[in-house]
Amino acid sequence: MTSLSKPSLAQLLLLSREKLFHYINSELETLGAEEKLALLVIDANGMDRIDRHFGYRFSDQLLLNLQKRLKESLKKAHFLVRLDRTRFALAIPGLKSERLLPVAAEKIRQLLDEPFTQDGNTTVARCALGIAVAPENGSNGHGLLTIAEESALSAQRSHLPYVIANPNPMLQDIPYLSGLALNEAIAANEFSMAYQPKIHLKSGAPATCEALLRWVPEGAEHPVNTEHFIAMAEQQRLMPTVTEWVIKTTIREASQLRFGDQRLGVALNISASDIRTVGLQASIVDALRIWEMPPELLTIEVTESAIIDNPDECFRILNDLRNHGIRVSIDDFGTGYSSLSYFKKIPADEIKIDRSFITDLAESPADAEIVSAITGLAHKFKMQVVCEGVENAESLEVLKGLGCDYAQGYFFAKPTGLRELKRWLQRAKTN
Ligand code: C2E
Ligand code: MG
Ligand code: MG
Repeated sequence: MTSLSKPSLAQLLLLSREKLFHYINSELETLGAEEKLALLVIDANGMDRIDRHFGYRFSDQLLLNLQKRLKESLKKAHFLVRLDRTRFALAIPGLKSERLLPVAAEKIRQLLDEPFTQDGNTTVARCALGIAVAPENGSNGHGLLTIAEESALSAQRSHLPYVIANPNPMLQDIPYLSGLALNEAIAANEFSMAYQPKIHLKSGAPATCEALLRWVPEGAEHPVNTEHFIAMAEQQRLMPTVTEWVIKTTIREASQLRFGDQRLGVALNISASDIRTVGLQASIVDALRIWEMPPELLTIEVTESAIIDNPDECFRILNDLRNHGIRVSIDDFGTGYSSLSYFKKIPADEIKIDRSFITDLAESPADAEIVSAITGLAHKFKMQVVCEGVENAESLEVLKGLGCDYAQGYFFAKPTGLRELKRWLQRAKTN
């Protein structure tokens, strides 16, 4: 045989990719209704460092060793191919539930994290794992591989041990967080609170600051979208850990806040999945005691939709909080379609009218009517009214005429970190 007939490395890689697609496509044809197929891309992305340090011969052996470990761990039905020098793809068909994905990912990680020794040199390969799942992420090998590759890249960029592509497209840009990675992210100060003042309309003075969670994964330039990240944390059942951190951090930081010589209140958001968490109330009460914050300076914001999902139990919990002296606010009011019969029972001190009614207030007489009606009703039931999302002077003028008590929005201040907020409070006091 001449060297011309011998396939090149590129051709071999192409061939193994084709074999992978063929394997996945035929597995998908026989996939049971409740079954999943997972495709893992394993990227030994730290090889440059190892090449430089130990030379190519060492790193080539290390990569072969990784391939061997993966092969030895395979069950008969699994399929492993090498995609290029540093990347492997592993297809796992017949998974009974996507809940098994983190388990599979952790197992593979353990295999990869074993140190490799040759000629007296020892090192560990740094690998990023990306996982796509069929049928949720795609219905053919090509589509699944693209998503698994993107997820591996996202794991690498966010320094996470693995990223499982999310079946919900809204959440696809959010790095996957396992319980372990969440604790690491907390320890690495990737979480912080931003604060946005609520302004008392009659006096123009800030009364309370709402605390809003921010997550900037290591290496990322911007925070991930808070709502999306919270939806992901709820899906992964990680919210109790997040909320515990939010409570402790916010109450500690807010205990330092003053407007002149007056202490400022703080508002915390509690998500729908958290409101019924056992121990939530005790954590809040403990933090208030430790940081010597009077309970009436704390407001808990719960969305209207969280209450509607389970009104009786929520009412009981909110009443308990109020019995401790803590204020309760109903967030995003007007979007949850609560009936008037609930309205009279809502155990709240405050209603926050959703910003969808406020943004175009100056141009929308219908929105002004709604805000006016909600305000009138809330006042009858001895609740105060906050309008969120005030972005311009025109909306503010309309609001003032509608009898609302407090306003919040970019027009007054955007959410900022604690230090910036303190500066803002000082400036507001001297103006
Ligand atoms: P929310 O509690 O209704 O908070 C208001 C959101 O509107 C915030 O978005 C805030 O940054 C934004 N905002 C404030 N003023 C304006 C304005 O004038 N115009 C516009 N367009 N937007 C404005 P953010 O911080 O992204 O938070 C989104 C949601 O995530 C919050 O909605 C809240 O439901 C949830 N959230 C935030 N932090 C936490 C937290 O610590 N725990 C829980 N459970 N949920 C949180
Ligand atoms: Mg809120
Ligand atoms: Mg809101």
